Amino acid sequence: MRDKAISEVFEAAKSEGRNFLYEHEAKKLFGLYGMPVTKIHVAETEDEAVEAAESIGFPIVLKIVSPQILHKSDAGGVIVGVEDEKGIREGFNRIIDNAKKYKADAEITGVLVQEMAPNGTEIIVGSTSDPTFGPTLMFGLGGIFVEILKDVSFRVAPIDVVDAREMIKEIKAYKILEGARGMPPSDQETLADILVKTSKMLMECPEVKELDMNPILAYPDGARIVDGRIIM
Ligand code: ADP
Ligand code: MG
Repeated sequence: MRDKAISEVFEAAKSEGRNFLYEHEAKKLFGLYGMPVTKIHVAETEDEAVEAAESIGFPIVLKIVSPQILHKSDAGGVIVGVEDEKGIREGFNRIIDNAKKYKADAEITGVLVQEMAPNGTEIIVGSTSDPTFGPTLMFGLGGIFVEILKDVSFRVAPIDVVDAREMIKEIKAYKILEGARGMPPSDQETLADILVKTSKMLMECPEVKELDMNPILAYPDGARIVDGRIIM
């Protein structure tokens, strides 16, 4: 049986008539499955955003929360590297202005205030539900690797850690994760763990129709999911 807190995340979205989870809701779910996510707070006012930023610690990333805006950067809805209170106040208002310019009737739920993760290797984990096989998992490197080169691996869920390690090794750009050309290596065990926990989540949550962790930032030690989206 899954935890009650897990069901509550879906219930909250359904009660608002939404068929998707906001980034902060998706991250809450990932966190409940023990995956590494950024510290996060949804602020409804400028003052609340400042307070949240001070408690999380600078630098901060601000993002729009709106039911009409799922691709936040397209709407000028992401500001990274905010260093101080003044930046939070300006950023809060700029993000809302940008959202309204992008879609005049966009409802603004709030502004996400989150911990800025250090630079790392961009990883993507995704899932879609296949009518025959059920939930599938996808793994790849972010940016051009997935968009242009389509360098990804797939498995049908559930998977175990051995499957996860194979999925990781299967991509053509695997050498990048090993630290080719002086790049820092990525913590493959943490990435495998994210894949296994995502698989568990998919098996326990039939509500999830599509899932996107884009990107996960990977480090020599650990990784952080910095964006997440779930379609129900
Ligand atoms: P979108 O909805 O447009 O995909 P993202 O949340 O992925 O928005 O943010 C866009 C980009 O900003 C990310 O690809 C990542 O490079 C950067 N970013 C977002 N959140 C963070 C964070 N918490 N720490 C560091 N970088 C981040
Ligand atoms: Mg993203």
